[in-house]
Amino acid sequence: MDISNKKISKIYEQNTIFYKLFSTILKNYPYKKEFYSRMNKIDPQKFFDISIKPEINVIVITIDCLRNSQLSSQGYQRKTTPFLDNIMYKFKTISTSPWTYPSVASILTGLYPHNHNAIIKGEIKNFDNLQNFQKIKTDILTLPEILFFLGYRIYFSTAIDMAFYPFKGRVIPRIYFSLNAETILSNLMKWISKNNSRFFAYVQLGDIHEPLNPPENFKNFFGNVKSIPNVNRWDFRNPKEYHEKNFSEYKENRIKLYDNSLRYVDHAIEQFYKYLEKKNLVDSTIFIVTADHGEEFWEHAEVETKYFFDPRDYYGVGHGHNVFNEIIEVPLLISTPTTNMGVTKNLVSSIDITPTLLSLLDINYFGNLDGLNVFKINQDRPLLSEAIGYGFEKKSLIFGNYKLIYSKNDGITWIFDLKKDPKEMFPITEDNITVQLIDKLKQIFSDSEKRKVRQVIKRKFYDGMNNK
Ligand SMILES: [Zn+2]
Repeated sequence: MDISNKKISKIYEQNTIFYKLFSTILKNYPYKKEFYSRMNKIDPQKFFDISIKPEINVIVITIDCLRNSQLSSQGYQRKTTPFLDNIMYKFKTISTSPWTYPSVASILTGLYPHNHNAIIKGEIKNFDNLQNFQKIKTDILTLPEILFFLGYRIYFSTAIDMAFYPFKGRVIPRIYFSLNAETILSNLMKWISKNNSRFFAYVQLGDIHEPLNPPENFKNFFGNVKSIPNVNRWDFRNPKEYHEKNFSEYKENRIKLYDNSLRYVDHAIEQFYKYLEKKNLVDSTIFIVTADHGEEFWEHAEVETKYFFDPRDYYGVGHGHNVFNEIIEVPLLISTPTTNMGVTKNLVSSIDITPTLLSLLDINYFGNLDGLNVFKINQDRPLLSEAIGYGFEKKSLIFGNYKLIYSKNDGITWIFDLKKDPKEMFPITEDNITVQLIDKLKQIFSDSEKRKVRQVIKRKFYDGMNNK
């Protein structure tokens, strides 16, 4: 992250028309320059067959902070997502990280954070310290870059600036601080309408990321939200505060406001989908809705205070701080012109999104991918979540019914039986399962290491050939 971008961001947050106009011109210039400078250096033929011409458009909408359990299709008590519930293909998905930066990089590379490298370095993570952010490795292509080389028009917009940072120099962004879903999606509609050529659009919506400010007509959708101080942000971030009698009132209203905001996002996406129908684009577009991570509503506050270190001394709320399922389980909803495909009952991962799209578009990509096409998965794989945003590194590995949570520096090696204990409250002590999951975790990292060595040898071999 460089200082100039931070300055630009500050300017961009100003509300006057002057600032908006000025910043629009100013903000895009360095991004464009950086983007074309990188594109000019890449030889796409090294990564895929550039002669193919996929005809299908791709839209990926990431709803920041959407935990899977809050969708009405998952049995949630409020009808939060009537439109999303109707999307044909639904996959229960594990995000590769509990916070935005590594997770969105996984969505658009098909790689785990330790392989794409967009993680925080250092022993104690704290994402307020931007100096420690590492970038996606230069020799990795992201999905928008691949599609750019195949002649797609590329659109990248986000209400959360953190979702753009991994892709700096790889896309020309539209960063819409605090704009709501309808405005962001209507901007996308205008862009789509301008031209008939194939396109890829990535949109990250921030409506259910704090601060929550749904429009008036959705603010009290599931009942009146009391005007309690900070009800649209986070209070009660430490169990020490809970003896205060107003905690339960705050919690109830905070969750209700999240649900109301989610109901609004569902409505905004429905309007956008109606636009696609009106323009006859549904039959030529793969439409994906997912999330970069979930959100904790105090489920593990006591446990986190007792066993885990957080440099902010916050526990039990938000995301980025731990790998319990409320923070890493997200939806993956796909609507595609190809129908009659099987949907696996097995869990999938955000690393599968890019491989699925490459496969549906018939792109034979030679680069590394950790994920698989979700329509071809028929067995359990160990699924990793890692690269924490706050505190010591924590990893989770889910395999079948079991889940490992491992944090070396917090001194934690816990196994949960998710079938018997889906809320992850009672770690079990079965040594053979612990050994099995630790082995699988080690295996993922040793496979990555072996792959890196193979790549270096391959590169040396080709360099040698070229020098002859
Ligand atoms: Zn996020």
